[in-house]
Amino acid sequence: MSIEWETVIGLEIHVQLMTKTKLFSGAATEYGAAPNVQACGIDIGLPGVLPVLNEAALTMAIKFGLSIGANIAHKSVFARKNYFYPDLPKGYQISQFEHPIVQGGSILFDLEGGARKHVNITRAHLEEDAGKSLHEDFDGFSGIDLNRAGIPLIEIVSEPELRSAKEAVAYLKAIHTLVRYLEISDGNMQEGSFRCDANVSIRPKGEAKLGTRAEIKNVNSFRFVEKAINYEINRQIDILENNGTITQETRLYDANKDETRSMRTKEEANDYRYFPDPDLLPVIVEKEFIERVRTTLPELPREKAERFAKDYALSVYDANVLTSTRELADFFEATLKASNGSEAKLCANWVMGELLGALNKTSLDISNSPISAERLAKLVERMSDKTISGKIAKSIFDKLWTSTDSVDEIIEKDGLKQVTDNSAIEAIIDKVIAENPTQTQDYKSGKDKLFGFFVGQVMKASQGKANPDLVNELLKQKLS
Ligand code: ADP
Ligand code: MG
Repeated sequence: MSIEWETVIGLEIHVQLMTKTKLFSGAATEYGAAPNVQACGIDIGLPGVLPVLNEAALTMAIKFGLSIGANIAHKSVFARKNYFYPDLPKGYQISQFEHPIVQGGSILFDLEGGARKHVNITRAHLEEDAGKSLHEDFDGFSGIDLNRAGIPLIEIVSEPELRSAKEAVAYLKAIHTLVRYLEISDGNMQEGSFRCDANVSIRPKGEAKLGTRAEIKNVNSFRFVEKAINYEINRQIDILENNGTITQETRLYDANKDETRSMRTKEEANDYRYFPDPDLLPVIVEKEFIERVRTTLPELPREKAERFAKDYALSVYDANVLTSTRELADFFEATLKASNGSEAKLCANWVMGELLGALNKTSLDISNSPISAERLAKLVERMSDKTISGKIAKSIFDKLWTSTDSVDEIIEKDGLKQVTDNSAIEAIIDKVIAENPTQTQDYKSGKDKLFGFFVGQVMKASQGKANPDLVNELLKQKLS
């Protein structure tokens, strides 16, 4: 008998907040400084120092909470989470436990193939990051860099409502997009500003009780999250189908071997001896403060995507790609606005296709695009008004990438205007027919497929400049 298994996943996402200074100290947070130059007495836990809450971090956490429709706690409490680790000099991490700042809320996002998923968020709490152990460059030793110690994080905890690795990644991407829209985090995964722990369990389909979970720690790319979860699902199925039991534990994903392996058995909350931090007062947030933060919310990714789909008649897929970052969405709208009433779909295709492709290839960001929205708009406009064909537009695009010439200058200089003059095209057609008597004969005796050959020849003879619609129309006349 083979059992059908259901996968259950809950994510804990750590998001570094983009504050200038740390959660409880005035030390700088900028990434990439020499080790230990951005760690003050508070961050390294010298005796006698006192933490002071950074209001900017609190504001960012509230902003996140409002964006997911969560309850913002009137009173939240910082607690000490006690554990020993070399990168944690105080011997405890300041976090929130029983009274987190953000409680509840949810997020809606699209899945591949058109389905939508709604996931409830349990909580998001403020906490400080730990330092970093450095193993390279220290033969037989470990180095400790405390620059990261005390950097503010929000930890976003989801309900165990995700049902596959793909859903987990889609959820993770939706949160990633959201925190960047809110401008509370740069979301840089390589630098560790956005990391996630995936809790994975399986249970027989139809079973209400949750299975025992494994927690996969700190996976730092979307692709690895998907792979790690899928590996873990198969590992657990294998154990259960061979009458084994799953141990509740923390596991690490090894990307080189594409496997997870046990790191330690999982602590329970009471192992941490949480208690309210006596150095910090409870945080009281007044309604007026929350409302003031609410006024700073931008149009959210979901709202923007829905508006794009509706107002510009774009597919859900296109709307999601174009709104994946605020910068890209702005670029698209600027292109459309400057393109003199060209079709939104055409603008969308060129932004998503040619432009994103070229940016990817050169590892450039949209904000550093060599082609501005205005120049791309002109290119789209010239396709729209039939001055040039799509094919010619591609070659102009390549020229725009490396020169500062305008679209019209390139069209003029290179003589790229589309030929829309019937007699000119007819002359080319006559020549092509004359040069290909066998094909003409075959076509006339029923080999319809050869039509494409003639279109190709005429386009080639015109160096791509003949208007394709006209070529089709005139060819049909001439060949019939
Ligand atoms: P911690 O991991 O710190 O002990 P929780 O017990 O609150 O914290 O759970 C953390 C995450 O694990 C949440 O995202 C939750 O949805 C998820 N989770 C809890 N139980 C399971 C389970 N049996 N299977 C999968 N995910 C789970
Ligand atoms: Mg956990």
